Amino acid sequence: MAAEVTCSFCGRSKKDVDLMISGIHAHICDKCVTQANTILAEEKKNKVEASNLPNFKLIKPRDIKKFLDEYVIGQDEAKKVMSVAVYNHYKRLMQKKIADSDVTIEKSNIIMVGETGTGKTYLARTLAKILQVPFCIADATVLTEAGYVGEDVESILTRLLQSADYNTEAAERGIVYIDEIDKIARKSDNPSITRDVSGEGVQQALLKLLEGTSVNVPPQGGRKHPDQKMITVNTENILFICGGAFEGMSRVIARRLNTRPLGFTAAAEHSENASVDRDNLLQFISAQDLKTFGLIPELIGRLPVLSFLNPLDSVALKKILTEPKNALAKQYKKLFEMEGIELEFKEGALDFIVEKAADFKLGARGLRSICEAIINDAMFELPSDKTVTKLVINRAYAEEKFSKSHYSKLKVA
Ligand code: ADP
Repeated sequence: MAAEVTCSFCGRSKKDVDLMISGIHAHICDKCVTQANTILAEEKKNKVEASNLPNFKLIKPRDIKKFLDEYVIGQDEAKKVMSVAVYNHYKRLMQKKIADSDVTIEKSNIIMVGETGTGKTYLARTLAKILQVPFCIADATVLTEAGYVGEDVESILTRLLQSADYNTEAAERGIVYIDEIDKIARKSDNPSITRDVSGEGVQQALLKLLEGTSVNVPPQGGRKHPDQKMITVNTENILFICGGAFEGMSRVIARRLNTRPLGFTAAAEHSENASVDRDNLLQFISAQDLKTFGLIPELIGRLPVLSFLNPLDSVALKKILTEPKNALAKQYKKLFEMEGIELEFKEGALDFIVEKAADFKLGARGLRSICEAIINDAMFELPSDKTVTKLVINRAYAEEKFSKSHYSKLKVA
């Protein structure tokens, strides 16, 4: 009588299972195949997760800056400060993994001060690109204390989660750019700010996020709802970069420098041209000025890296128009190229665009709308006109198109 066939793994007999697969020396039943498959999948998942852990690139500060240089014109000081801060931030994460040191490296959240359109957001965005981590932009002006109309500070993390495709672990290593941080300054210390003291409540709420804490985040945003499933996000390793124009800050700095003339002389001596420095007082900014402006000391303490962005002059604006990897002029050229049309900007036209952008005092932000005003007619007409293969935009063309646009009617500040 033939021996009964049993599964070599679980010992079940052939009649107790749906299927028995036979090898040369052994048999396996369908139940064991399923179980083995589950174990395999589990192992695979663990392996992927483990390899995901150090999933950030540790790039040296010099290389980070080099990358930023390809996109962002000027702002050398800010680029250097940011490159170092980000590098240290990621070194800190590495250290946490090794977890054998008695020296704890503290988080290097950044605050950037600079006029509107000088590249604060752009710098942060470019940085996230090189680091390949989730990145989101939040606007401090819409934030309110919990319980008030507006968004809770947790909404910032909802956005970060969304940009990380709800991968909590990735989001927890991401970068958050909080724009218009100056708009939540306390009113009492600065009469030029029209917000009331509620700004301080938002600062307090932000403080917790910046310090590093576990926050329950509503995955779809909106108000916390008792029935909504929350995702817990730990902010300990999230890098926060805050930016603001801090209008009126130059006066705050000037006042401080005047009360301490020695300090000013010392600083001015280091620069090539002291009179230029007086036009760009932001470079002398200190944590004390942020406090005078109305940020609470605790928040300032959580933003240890303070940097400034220079106002953009005509030379910088022209470079921005033509030089960076995705410069506006290059983008328009590409758009026309796709229509089979060669687009050429003459120097005079570029100078005109820069002059207008400088007039509007919107920094580089003005460049795009001025270009649109000038080129829009051509972008409207030429796709339907197969006879045109080249478009030259010279100063006369730019002036004519611009004078017909609604921008020419805007009053220059
Ligand atoms: P803000 O300082 O107000 O945050 P943004 O970073 O949003 O200004 O700048 C607006 C746009 O202007 C950017 O998207 C970018 O295209 C351009 N831009 C601003 N500053 C620079 C710069 N220094 N180099 C290159 N492009 C710049």
